[in-house]
Amino acid sequence: MTADTSAALFDVGAYLPDGKHLIGGEWRSARDGAVIDVHDPSLGTRLASVPAGRAGDVADAIGSAAHAMASWGEADPAWRAGILRRWATLLADHADEIATIEAREVGYAVFGSRHLAEAVEFMAGLSDKIYGRTLPARSPETFSFTQLEPLGVCASIVPWNAPTALMLTSVAPALAAGNAMVVKPSEEAPLGCLYLAALALEAGLPPGVLNVVTGYGPDAGQALSASPDIKHMTFTGSAATGAQVARACGANIVSVHLELGGKTPHIVLPGADLDVAVPSIVGNLIRNAGQICYAGTRVVVHESIASVIQDRLIAAMGEVTIGPWFSQPDMGPLISGRRKQEVLDYVAAGRAEGGEVAYGGGPVEVKGAEAGHFVAPTLLTGVTTSMTVAREEIFGPVLSLLTFRDERQAVDIANDSPYGLAASIWTADVNAALRMSRRLQCGQVWVNTFGTRGVLGAPFGGFKHSGFGRIGSIDTVYAYTQAKTVIIDATGGRGSG
Ligand code: NDP
Repeated sequence: MTADTSAALFDVGAYLPDGKHLIGGEWRSARDGAVIDVHDPSLGTRLASVPAGRAGDVADAIGSAAHAMASWGEADPAWRAGILRRWATLLADHADEIATIEAREVGYAVFGSRHLAEAVEFMAGLSDKIYGRTLPARSPETFSFTQLEPLGVCASIVPWNAPTALMLTSVAPALAAGNAMVVKPSEEAPLGCLYLAALALEAGLPPGVLNVVTGYGPDAGQALSASPDIKHMTFTGSAATGAQVARACGANIVSVHLELGGKTPHIVLPGADLDVAVPSIVGNLIRNAGQICYAGTRVVVHESIASVIQDRLIAAMGEVTIGPWFSQPDMGPLISGRRKQEVLDYVAAGRAEGGEVAYGGGPVEVKGAEAGHFVAPTLLTGVTTSMTVAREEIFGPVLSLLTFRDERQAVDIANDSPYGLAASIWTADVNAALRMSRRLQCGQVWVNTFGTRGVLGAPFGGFKHSGFGRIGSIDTVYAYTQAKTVIIDATGGRGSG
């Protein structure tokens, strides 16, 4: 494959001040001046630098957020909604720049960022609809109600694989509910998050309501999780780091929402429309080179159709174009050389444990982008549930094919994973789909489709090691509030009560 590198000259520096993060509405360097270089994973070139923030920078951001809380938390919710709507408008107006910044730092073929504006718009609409309740009492002389108050300074730790969308899953509902935020993006892809925060300032968000502190996970991330001055943590990332973050928050009695990994199965029943299923299975595997939490990385097929599906998957994988984002390929690189090696190690483990590589399985060299971390879409066959490739999240374009004899076994195989984020069922039998949906242990089930398909307010989140808590729904905004119950004796305290 070849790439025209001359098309890659989008200058991130034109959009963000180099080497700065956003604290208290100001673009600041790290206290000690240290920086981290951010690289283009397709070309290996340096895109920009960001501060290598540490505990002191995190404390500054939390302090700014606490200061901003005083006015933001008490403000007219309709005013807050207006600011968030202006932010949504700017996100829509700048969708192309956001998508391009993210394509450069994450490496995926640009797949748009219009959904960011919609995510903020949705939560802005809830800002002034956060209602408490009037509570029934045994005595007519007792009056009681709940009011839902913001939590205070909330924190969010964001991974590199879809940073802008994942930042908004916490920031939008948290701000809508009147909280202030400190966000720690991944040092591998922090630029999109910084740009989103810049647009929030332009929209009129008061300084300090949204702070983005860049830095390494074990420095800035750890300091944020261990801070006794945050009231809530939303962590999106791997299960191992999530457990660490939850322990640190637990030590300070800080609540945690965990959005972790996945191992999504596609269950394909006899009679399924393979002309629809196969392109969807391959298309969603290669999206961001398999680096998506809900990537469909297991295909669980009835034994009667296994060989036909295998042939079709191989044919579809053979059509996939690979290259840097600006050559408009179907699939881009992995984020780093380290991740590429990890994926190749998983393929080797699959082979060593008895699987066969039916397609791909190795690195891909792209002329003009030799430093890019490209790996071929890969199909492993002969996989069983006990094998490493069937159990662990590979976070690369590797699909394991497993077979089943009957519906019950299909569900058992799908559930035989530490993760439980999502599952897809491909079938012409709606009754089978309903029965299986009931038994699948995961947060979302898709039937004859993959992903939320633009359903508004669909709760998304995991069972088991995929985490707990739900993003994206009406209820998410309530997760960033705390109920206070007020009880009044309407006799002025003189009643019998
Ligand atoms: P990591 O868990 O390695 O990192 C996630 C975030 O945590 C990064 O910002 C990282 O910072 C930070 N971090 C690392 N170490 C610490 C620490 N000791 N304390 C606090 N923060 C820390 O995950 P990846 O970046 O590898 O992201 C991929 C994972 O995220 C996959 O497992 C994927 O499935 C999951 N994910 C889940 C989603 C969901 O909605 N359920 C969505 C997207 C991804 P830094 O990178 O700077 O080290």
